[in-house]
Amino acid sequence: MSPAPIARIEIFRADLALAEPFEHASSGRIDRLQEILVKLTDADGIAGWGEMRGNVPYVTGETPGRVLAALTEVLAPRLLEARLASLADVLAFMDKAILGNATAKAVVDVALHDVIARRLGVPVQALLGGGTARRIRFHGTLPFCPPEEAANQARRYLDAGVTKIKVRVALRPVQRDLARLEAIRRVLDDHPAGKDALLAVDANQGWRPKEAIGALRLLERFDLAWIEQPVAAGDLAGMRAVKEAVAAPVIADESCGTPQELLRLIETRAVDGFHFKLCKAGGIRRLMGMIATAEAAGMPYMIGQMDEGMLATAAGLNCAAAANPFSCELWGYQRVAAQPFTGLKVEGGAMVLPDAPGFGIDVDEAALTPIADFPPG
Ligand SMILES: [Mg+2]
Repeated sequence: MSPAPIARIEIFRADLALAEPFEHASSGRIDRLQEILVKLTDADGIAGWGEMRGNVPYVTGETPGRVLAALTEVLAPRLLEARLASLADVLAFMDKAILGNATAKAVVDVALHDVIARRLGVPVQALLGGGTARRIRFHGTLPFCPPEEAANQARRYLDAGVTKIKVRVALRPVQRDLARLEAIRRVLDDHPAGKDALLAVDANQGWRPKEAIGALRLLERFDLAWIEQPVAAGDLAGMRAVKEAVAAPVIADESCGTPQELLRLIETRAVDGFHFKLCKAGGIRRLMGMIATAEAAGMPYMIGQMDEGMLATAAGLNCAAAANPFSCELWGYQRVAAQPFTGLKVEGGAMVLPDAPGFGIDVDEAALTPIADFPPG
């Protein structure tokens, strides 16, 4: 069934309040997710949805207002006029129309994948060459909090079947990280599901290189499965210095945004692996290309996301189902108090994808705030 051109682009916002606000080394306190949604309808009336979070300037350099401006002032009107249907054409067109703006491009790319998969009557993972896996295991993350609270949360994860736990670090002094990791390690050692559990850390760029090496020498006795983004995103020499000084794999997250940044990390041998996300890559097609690049370099990768709604989570999960990540941080809607989506389930430490075309996520359109509708009616 050949694709039909995009005939309508509707843009929405949804502010999703968090039941549990969170904080790590670069986020500041986050109590709501400011989501941007795009509904694309093709000339045959088949519609698909994309969702990306706008309030992650510490990762994407973008804001909700900026994402909306890129969509409403440039991308949506020009895409409609161009009447394109294929993903390759749409992506090339968007790159020509506006530099950067990975989040705005990603939300269009994600919605178009949903449209095309629904047209074909298959889940997006099948469109990406994935198998039929419906369950994707994920790792939990623990934010900055007192040691007792971290221990309780770790116990809840293990009780729920989540056996990989990533802890946010880079608090000062380092004894505060040590105290939390000690409390968590004790829970793992005592819990029946804890003996095969893995513990990892994420510094979210919080250290300087020598500080990172000093801190990680203390933290490595907790047998870390990986260490994420110890130093500033642009400090590739610093990342490499840390990588060479510690035993556990050093993984780039904030350093690894675009495909071009990935190539630079591989060329400079700055890290041992990567943390990929749709919002940084600029959509599904670019993300799958980055996965292929990492695989060609023989390097491991994980797939994650920001805290986002269920639709954005489903998009990441469909990519994971069509790849071989060493871990997945794809549970991003679980801290949201109430949201306008249904379709995903959590079961025994895994996310369960719906057996339906596209992402299989139902969107409660009445709960969204309409921003723009192209062509204007
Ligand atoms: Mg990270």
